[in-house]
Amino acid sequence: MPELVLRNVRPWGGAAVDLRVAGGRITSMFPHDADDPRALTGAPDTVFVDGRGLLGLPGFVNAHAHLDKSWLGLPWVSYGGEATTEGRIRHERAHRDELGIPSVATTTTLLTKMVSLGTTAFRSHVDVDLGVGLDGIRHVRDAVAGIGAPVGLEVVAFPQDGVLRRPGVLDLLDRAAAEGADHIGGLDPASIDRDPVGQLDALFGIADRRGVGVDIHLHDGGELGAFQYELIVERTRALGLAGRVNIAHGFAIGDVQAVRQRALVEAVADAGITITTVAPVNAPRLPLTELREAGVSVGLGTDGIRDLWGPYGDGDMLRLATRMAQLAGWRRDEDLEAAVRIASSDAAPFVGREVHDLVVGAAADVVLVDAANVQEALVEAPPRQLVISGGVVVVDALSGGEQGGRAARPVL
Ligand SMILES: [Zn+2]
Repeated sequence: MPELVLRNVRPWGGAAVDLRVAGGRITSMFPHDADDPRALTGAPDTVFVDGRGLLGLPGFVNAHAHLDKSWLGLPWVSYGGEATTEGRIRHERAHRDELGIPSVATTTTLLTKMVSLGTTAFRSHVDVDLGVGLDGIRHVRDAVAGIGAPVGLEVVAFPQDGVLRRPGVLDLLDRAAAEGADHIGGLDPASIDRDPVGQLDALFGIADRRGVGVDIHLHDGGELGAFQYELIVERTRALGLAGRVNIAHGFAIGDVQAVRQRALVEAVADAGITITTVAPVNAPRLPLTELREAGVSVGLGTDGIRDLWGPYGDGDMLRLATRMAQLAGWRRDEDLEAAVRIASSDAAPFVGREVHDLVVGAAADVVLVDAANVQEALVEAPPRQLVISGGVVVVDALSGGEQGGRAARPVL
């Protein structure tokens, strides 16, 4: 991988800097100066890019993706399923074979779109069930490896069709963990398996034995969902899994009385549990401000995009961050910046990184947009002028970037 010099960019809208990249990481960063030799010299194959004073952000982090499910790129698929979670599961299982899902090809189409829009790291749930076994995980890994640039990936082995109600699925999850999945998923232990203690004990058992994390889809609302929050908190504490357990969706915490909500927020914070949201428009709002003030890491993800669960989603994390901020009623500058940080730098823990930002030592994941400041970037979601993932230029809409070396050849 050749060295890269990115000149004249404004990280988070601050003063312009030049930065150097080697081995996929940011190795130095200094004030922009047109004559600074540190920004003008390099090995013969060094790539030089002129950032033209654009706003620089770290690559976006999709903390809740389903890279294996999309039919994006295929002819339009009209939705013929049902309104409930159970109905959608049935619909997906009945029709995915007709679409050739999961496959490397469909995953690559979706991945290419999202990376070109600036997402450089993913936590993806991948279906593991009696039909596809562990094939989906292999397809997703192959697609990510084939994208042409280093892209961050954490895999959640996801029992979309239930766990205890499908004998054999627990063994598959255990095998997935043994073969390198980063997290074991779960799904509505009460309403899908109708045995919340049983499902959670089984999932946490694998996590404890295999040293992996747990990331549970919890749609159940009200007291039923709140009860499962408590069960998850208990097991996280008992096994010392702080920082390794995530609740996805978790609508119940936005669906209970204020006193109950406060107690749940405190319990989640104290246990070191993280929360991911997909900013849904038709579900109870999570108390994002309260969660963050309590110290809970909140991640943002797209959920499925154009799949057998529904036709929506364009894969743009910046637009999704706008929606999250609007739904939360955020208007102040600091809140708008927080929305972009949730979608990028603050999401480091969701993709197994100590740091994910435009700082020395971090992975060289950079997005440039034409915006005065980070707030304008959020509300405008302007086109991505440049995307760098792991030190490789994947999108370059800046013509004439060549300066004393060879110009970038974007891989997408
Ligand atoms: Zn999901």
